[in-house]
Amino acid sequence: MKNIKRLAVYCSSSDHIKKIYFDQAKGLGALMAENSMDLVYGGGMVGLMGAVAKSLKSHQGHTIGVVPEALKIDGVVNTIDDELIITPDMHTRKAKMIELADGFIGLAGGFGTLEEMLEVMTLKQLGYHQKPIVFLNTDGYYNELFKMFEHIYAENFAKAEYRQLYHISDSPEAAIVYLLNYQPPQLPDKWFV
Ligand code: AMP
Repeated sequence: MKNIKRLAVYCSSSDHIKKIYFDQAKGLGALMAENSMDLVYGGGMVGLMGAVAKSLKSHQGHTIGVVPEALKIDGVVNTIDDELIITPDMHTRKAKMIELADGFIGLAGGFGTLEEMLEVMTLKQLGYHQKPIVFLNTDGYYNELFKMFEHIYAENFAKAEYRQLYHISDSPEAAIVYLLNYQPPQLPDKWFV
């Protein structure tokens, strides 16, 4: 597997969340910088996005913000990035992030984060890419989602082997170890035939 040169981080745009989420976001940013992984992200200065980017910058890391034209708003878009890519719309932005990144990590987040994580999982399931996907399950935030995933397998809406599409880490350290050692799994066809 090729090295993770650029890691896409999907995470909350909210500032009104517990400190532990910020602590892990900052921890991840520091470890990314230490391991020469550039940040590809939504380019926001808000929420966990802002925290990860700031942490990378304070550890001499490199950040690439990918922002749709409509969200390029003063006070929302970060001004500290090494590179800022403006896209015409949300769809182009997500596609650009996926193209740039060698792997994906989802920190705690809301609908935007979930949508981004489920998109890269779906694309991997269909064989469009073989890149690593990690959930950073800070303080068990995603436990209910993983229960839903188990329900999906139990009800045969997805094959149980697709648990290998993604990895669950409880800490930034564990997530980085997984990413550094990642080997793409051999996955079965999506179809139940
Ligand atoms: P949410 O989880 O709903 O807070 O949405 C966060 C995710 O959606 C991030 O991973 C971003 O890629 C994207 N996003 C949401 N709001 C913004 C914003 N103001 N600026 C840039 N990206 C955003």
